Amino acid sequence: MSILYDAIIIGGGHNALVTAAYLARAGRSVLVLERRELLGGCAVTEELWPGFKVSTAAYVNSLFRPEIIRDLELKRHGFEMLPRSPSSFTPFPDGRYLLMGPDKQMTHREISKFSQRDAGNLPKYEAMLERVADFLEPTLVQTPPNPWSMAPGNLLQLLKLALSFRRLGTDGQKAVEILTGAANPILDRWFESEELKATIATDAIIGAFATPSMPGTAYVLFHHVMGECDGVRGVWGYVRGGMGGLSNAIASAAREKGAEIKTSAPVARILVRNGRASGVAMADGVEYQARKVISGVDAHLTFLKLMDPAELPGEFADAVRHLDYASGSAKINLALSEVPDFSCLRGGTPGPQHRGTIHLCPTRDYIEKAFDRAKYGYISDSPIIEATIPSSLDETVAPKGKHVMSMFTQYFPYKLAPDAGSLEENKKRYAERCIDIMTEYAPNFRKAVIDYEVLSPTDIEERYGLTGGNIMQGTMSLSSLSFMRPVPGYADYRTPIKGLYLCGAATHPGGGVMGACGYNAAREILRDG
Ligand SMILES: Cc1cc2nc3c(=O)[nH]c(=O)nc-3n(C[C@H](O)[C@H](O)[C@H](O)COP(=O)(O)OP(=O)(O)OC[C@H]3O[C@@H](n4cnc5c(N)ncnc54)[C@H](O)[C@@H]3O)c2cc1C
Repeated sequence: MSILYDAIIIGGGHNALVTAAYLARAGRSVLVLERRELLGGCAVTEELWPGFKVSTAAYVNSLFRPEIIRDLELKRHGFEMLPRSPSSFTPFPDGRYLLMGPDKQMTHREISKFSQRDAGNLPKYEAMLERVADFLEPTLVQTPPNPWSMAPGNLLQLLKLALSFRRLGTDGQKAVEILTGAANPILDRWFESEELKATIATDAIIGAFATPSMPGTAYVLFHHVMGECDGVRGVWGYVRGGMGGLSNAIASAAREKGAEIKTSAPVARILVRNGRASGVAMADGVEYQARKVISGVDAHLTFLKLMDPAELPGEFADAVRHLDYASGSAKINLALSEVPDFSCLRGGTPGPQHRGTIHLCPTRDYIEKAFDRAKYGYISDSPIIEATIPSSLDETVAPKGKHVMSMFTQYFPYKLAPDAGSLEENKKRYAERCIDIMTEYAPNFRKAVIDYEVLSPTDIEERYGLTGGNIMQGTMSLSSLSFMRPVPGYADYRTPIKGLYLCGAATHPGGGVMGACGYNAAREILRDG
């Protein structure tokens, strides 16, 4: 006689683990089934080489919701943030560099090297973003209202949203521009120094198959100034022990509350009986029964691969088929014998230039050129590189004196042009080019590389189960946000199949290690009993 769980959760990503912990805390029997041998999805630490513990996908955190840290007592379960100061370092080909970070005086001094006016404007620009964040941030942990529903609760929620928008006053126009527009016009309005604009612009394209001149990138830019690290807004930090430190802490909290979690447990099919989800069938044929099935994997996998789309209303299945999973992000994880010694700011041991994100992207035109080739299916000649060295702050992730580096890079198209050569050739060429670019700024770099792995969008798809290698479980463009995520009319974590829910980044508020999707989903699931 098989057990009947209250809830089965597909996938052990950080969002799924958050949902599991909240459901278990509310007394529900919960079973989490993760395909891989480790938990966390994109928020994992993997020991790629002995002693080198690498955050193989996500690498910095700021967005994770403070209410979840408190509710689940994640610090007691081992979660620790290491705030970064400075938070960014941009070396330029002419030998100059720009450091920026939470230290406001240092940032002012640094930007003044390029423009006095920009140094004065940055705090005003950040204050504007913070006012807009005050409007947007509370919506992250709310279920989006459904504008097509006349239910009184919905109408009330829409009214509340309209009133808080009204409170923004003339910043309302800025909020709309941030939600819909391109990053470039905003940056051009505020700043004159190309060095500063290029540094900020790289954040506008993270995970997007787009350039800062394209609509929708302003929101990605904004996404990266939200969040907090130990209570300080906009500060990004490393998780001690790598990103898996966070996922393991959530898993520990969930287990303590009674959740059962299985790894190496790939779900093959969602079982649907009489229009209701009744459990799952595993790849090895074992079946588990549950009152509710909750999917933490993306909408494409959930509805088109794990079930027969014929079970779904045709319009819904079509909307899922048309979701955008474009991606041009590749990750290169490296083991280093020493830190890069930058010609413009010397230092062979970890210093301010190593603690934050190292931006290798001198101008916004450089981004446009890198994208030009990618849109026709070729890897960029000169990719944009955001590199981090968490071992500069966290001695637990590398052998003594050695270092780990993450290079988050763009653009590596998911679909290569027919005459572009094989995937393996392209991966090798791309990674070697990235190493060369870093070596142009830090001559010791190439010989410091002990080993590396390259994750193209195809590898990201295969390893983490992300359709198209899209790091956000679906593009974060306006037409796929809020009440339209994953598809219009189904942004409340429920699906057309009774008893089947979504809880991953495919839902509002989307990608990033926020936990908010899992948190909101748990609230709605518990509301249904
Ligand atoms: C390369 C990369 C870099 C990133 N960098 C950052 C960053 O620095 N900071 C940040 O905030 N965000 C970053 N992101 C985005 C962020 O990591 C993700 O948006 C977020 O972690 C998604 O979490 P999730 O729990 O919703 O789903 P996922 O992490 O996608 O988890 C889904 C899980 O489901 C499992 N699964 C899939 N199919 C099945 C199946 N059939 N049966 C069982 N299990 C299954 C998968 O193995 C996976 O563990 C990055 C993502 C990537 C890929």
